[in-house]
Amino acid sequence: MTDQIRPQPGILDIALYEGGKSHVAGVANAVKLSSNENPFGASDRAKEVFQRSVHSLHRYPSTDHANLRAAIAEVHGLDAGRVICGAGSDEVINFLCQAYAGPKDEVVYTEHGFLMYRIYALAAGATPVEVPERERTADVDAILAACNRRTKLVFLANPNNPTGTMVSAAEVARLAAGLPAQAILVLDGAYAEYVEGYDGGAALVDARDNVVMTRTFSKVYGLGGLRIGWGYGPKHIIDVLNRVRGPFNLSTAQLDVAEAAVRDQDFVAKCRNENARLRSWLAVALAELGVPSDTSMANFVLARFASQDEAEACDAFLQEQGLIVRRVAGYKLPHCLRITIGDEASCRRVAHAVAQFKGVR
Ligand SMILES: *Cc1c(COP(=O)(O)O)cnc(C)c1O
Repeated sequence: MTDQIRPQPGILDIALYEGGKSHVAGVANAVKLSSNENPFGASDRAKEVFQRSVHSLHRYPSTDHANLRAAIAEVHGLDAGRVICGAGSDEVINFLCQAYAGPKDEVVYTEHGFLMYRIYALAAGATPVEVPERERTADVDAILAACNRRTKLVFLANPNNPTGTMVSAAEVARLAAGLPAQAILVLDGAYAEYVEGYDGGAALVDARDNVVMTRTFSKVYGLGGLRIGWGYGPKHIIDVLNRVRGPFNLSTAQLDVAEAAVRDQDFVAKCRNENARLRSWLAVALAELGVPSDTSMANFVLARFASQDEAEACDAFLQEQGLIVRRVAGYKLPHCLRITIGDEASCRRVAHAVAQFKGVR
């Protein structure tokens, strides 16, 4: 009797995650600016390693990820024993929810926060709690006010997607210090590399026993298709996460390519600089056309329109021009479009198309 076969509570409340659109019907070679991918792709060294990985396809991968953890620790100045690697940072977020949140527990995140926090909280049977932001920026006092005896995890992406805004190190430290004793602060640093001189929260992890940082190879490293991410936290938490991690959660290709990628920091610096240059250019160009955005610290801008209708009409016009950006109504920002910073030609095409849409020549 299928009516007696039912999933765990919470599972049917999960809305399927929709990735950024990648094709427009009838348009060849559309430019995809909908998933915050690196327009320069992956570093040449990472690509070479991937090509070589074909020779060891028959071998099981490392279970302890020692080489990748050592490389990450060396490059970032961290303790390799407190690094955990996953299939994208998504998997590390999943480990955290599985290990620390269950029925009757609460998982806190902000109004315009990443949709995966809610999905993994529900998958674990926990209750998602969404906290209002102020002007599209996380509000530490509001987050602290939402915490209680049931709060187990507090997720904060810094910089945040899709707003691009950031909370200061002092505010993040105040948040970590103010949480209830049983709660863990998870700093999602998916875009940390785009912020010059920012450690993603690593120093705060080292200073406390209730903070975990997650990072990814999907954004500045240009490896979203390969699925590699990592986390850094206190020993007691990383030991717990390793118990729910499958021994072969990463393939040899994933491990070896990520190791080559993290060691190529020249490539990261080149991408960060080019992104910063084109991001300010595009933000100014859009603002001059009457489309403002908050100062973005990441590899996209959140363009604000007068209304949902105008945002949707502009999105449709951009698609006709072969430009795919991201609608963010699912992030409670129906009047906005999130535009990934592409290469120079793509940024110019976006500005030109928005000008045409606005009727400016
Ligand atoms: C893109 C993104 C990630 C990365 O996810 P992966 O699973 O590592 O590809 C994590 N958090 C946020 C906020 C993101 O935008």
